[in-house]
Amino acid sequence: MEIILADKAGFCFGVKRAINTAFEAVGKTRVYCLGPLIHNPQEVERLRQAGIETVDDFGSLNAGDTLIIRSHGVPPHVIEQARNRGLTIIDLTCPFVGKAQRHAEVLHKEGYQVVVVGEKKHPEVQSILGHAGDSAVVVETANDIPGMKLHGRLGVVAQTTQSYGNFSEIVLTLLRISKELKVFNTICSSTKERQEAARILARQVDVMLVVGGRNSANTSRLADLCRQEGKPTHHIEVADEIRPEWLEGATKVGVTAGASTPDWLVEGVIEKLKQVKIR
Ligand code: SF4
Repeated sequence: MEIILADKAGFCFGVKRAINTAFEAVGKTRVYCLGPLIHNPQEVERLRQAGIETVDDFGSLNAGDTLIIRSHGVPPHVIEQARNRGLTIIDLTCPFVGKAQRHAEVLHKEGYQVVVVGEKKHPEVQSILGHAGDSAVVVETANDIPGMKLHGRLGVVAQTTQSYGNFSEIVLTLLRISKELKVFNTICSSTKERQEAARILARQVDVMLVVGGRNSANTSRLADLCRQEGKPTHHIEVADEIRPEWLEGATKVGVTAGASTPDWLVEGVIEKLKQVKIR
């Protein structure tokens, strides 16, 4: 059985930067991360063992403690509150997320109603909303649009991990109902590259394994795209989840991984695949 790894898979620029900087911060003060640094439970555990605790809020932290803002970013008032509390901030908001935040802010100032294309509850979307004014709305799919309270002038930005298909369908639908539409394509190229590589690979193999946190939006989307290519696809977090029956009759198995999946987990999956005994 041939095992093929997607051309682009695993940690993206923003996540690599966040992980490296977080590990560098260890030991100077007590270090906390506001929410899991990345959507990968195994890597978050590795960070915890190194001394970086994940906290849901900073109410119990003391002045002088270090607070990491993860790559998804946060609304501006959160940083202000943390500073007022005397915390040292390490802001690891990915520059691409920062760009989406800035576009949202400018659109709002220019009088557009901001439409964020993304998942309503995703922390990155919440961080962009924090820059987008009170009238901003989130659209997950084009089906959400009928019945929404939308003005005539709309300004659109995307959660960086959106698929182009969903984004363009929403933009086309908005075009039909708006008087003026300004669109910033804020989908990150890392996401696009991983999505394209996953699609291409899915067409070449018999079965796809997608490695990454079940709480990782971009990993789940990679799995969806592989399924859309008609391939049996399994989203796993760790190598031990691989079941031999998935690989029965397969001559080629494809492996890809979300932007928040560390190399050591991908390598573990490849090693396990080499050892799997297929009937
Ligand atoms: S996927 Fe893109 S936007 Fe998100 S952290 Fe990675 S580089 Fe940044």
